Order: sequence, then structure tokens, then C-alpha cells
Amino acid sequence: MVHFVGAGPGAPDLITLRGARLLAEAGQVIYAGSLVNPALLEHTRPGTPYHDSALLTLEEVLARMEEGEAQGWDTVRLHTGDPSLYGAIREQMDALRQRGIPFDVTPGVSSFSGAAAAIPAEYTLPGGSQTLILTRMAGRTPVPETEALSALAAHGSSLVLFLSAGMVEAAARELLAGGTYTPDTPAAIVYKATWPEERVYPCTLSTLAETARENGVTRTALILVGEFLGENYQRSKLYDGAFSHGFRQGK
Ligand code: SAH
Repeated sequence: MVHFVGAGPGAPDLITLRGARLLAEAGQVIYAGSLVNPALLEHTRPGTPYHDSALLTLEEVLARMEEGEAQGWDTVRLHTGDPSLYGAIREQMDALRQRGIPFDVTPGVSSFSGAAAAIPAEYTLPGGSQTLILTRMAGRTPVPETEALSALAAHGSSLVLFLSAGMVEAAARELLAGGTYTPDTPAAIVYKATWPEERVYPCTLSTLAETARENGVTRTALILVGEFLGENYQRSKLYDGAFSHGFRQGK
């Protein structure tokens, strides 16, 4: 059987208990070496064979999985963060279905959660945006025209950009082209959230590009944008003493 497992954003103790157990029981591990912290492999039994998928094609990954099945092993396919975001797991799941190989998915802590913790920040503040947009700049993978960054930016919501640290200048331009964010809108670059090398670079949309340049950030970083990084919000109703709800009577 194949287990797709979210490794979490980097720190080896930010994998789920289930993910750690599956790693400990694995007959082999195929991990995304470009992003998964190798320290995660310490959850495996000594001598467990592992393969870095950064060096493999989809067909080669599938061949390893088929070999694992033939050996009667449980294969852990370890993806960074949560596998449902930019994980390229759909093509693997479809191919496994075609081959009659059973699989399941164990979610993980996504890097956007790790980045919020690093700051630390809350994406959805009372009195502020109640929406978080997770998106990316178009690279070799295209982004549908209806999801152009400028169009998404028009909402002025909290926003996190994956896979775009090497395109910050264009990102800032598109974010401003939406017409709702301003050059002063707060932003942050979070490099390697939850890794020992974690760095947080607070900035604004007008200083985003130079902040990335000055600090040499070109990859393994998220760009966070929105007023949630600023000072303005309201107290929550949920914990407001004057407010009644299903579990508490207001005074
Ligand atoms: N499935 C992953 C995302 C994979 S796409 C998740 O849920 O987090 C890879 C991109 O994720 C990187 O280009 C970077 O933008 C972001 N990323 C992954 N790990 C990160 C980390 N620890 N800190 C900051 N960004 C990270």
C-alpha cells in the first residue's frame, strides 16, 4: 500500500502522529528532497531505503511504488507541507488507481500555517479580512486567466503566494494593479518557516522586491500580504463578555 503523507513545513516534530507512525512502519520512503527536511527521515527504522523524488520522473516514482508492492512493503510518499497544495499527487493517485494499488492520504501542516506561526499572525482578524487566498505566480505551470494575481488582489483579502519568491517584482506589480492594496499594505517574506534557518522579513508592497533582493531570498519562501499584518482589528465577539452565544450567557 502507498501512503501519501504530509511532512509538515520543515520542523521534524510538525508531522502528524499518524504520519510519524507511517514513517516508522514504512518499507521504503519516497520523499520530495528539494523541500522536505531530511531530518524527517529520522522517524524511519534504521536501514529503511529512501528515494529522493527530485531526481525521478513520475514513471520512475511509480516504478518504485510497484516494486514496493511486489515486496509487500508499505511505501510512504512524503510531500512537503500538506500534500493537497501544489503536491502533484493527483497524477500519482490516478496512476495507482489504474494499477489497482491501494493508497491513502495523511494531511500535513501546510507552510502557510507554519509561516503564520513564525510571524506570529492571524490571517482572519475580526474587523478585517475574513478570507485567505492561497495562490501563486504563473511559472512553467500556468495560472488560469481568471485567477490572475491582479484580479485576486482586487479583493484586498489576506493572501499567501506560494512558489513565487523568485518573481517578487512582478508579484508586487500585479498585487498593486488590483487597485485595492496600496504601496503601504503590509507584507512579509517568510523563508523556511519552522526550519532552523527560518527568517521573517517584514516589509510593505513597495519594499517587497528590494527586501527579497537584499536578503537573497529566491526560493523556499512564502509571501504574505494583507492588513492582517498591520495594527488594526476589533475584539472578537466570541470572547466578548457582553455577547451571548450557545455556550455562554453575556453580562
Ligand atoms: N504542499 C506544500 C507546498 C508545496 S509548493 C505546503 O503545503 O506547504 C512549494 C512552495 O511552498 C515553495 O516554493 C514555497 O513557496 C512554499 N514552502 C514550502 N515549505 C516552506 C517553508 N517551510 N517556508 C516557506 N515556504 C515554504
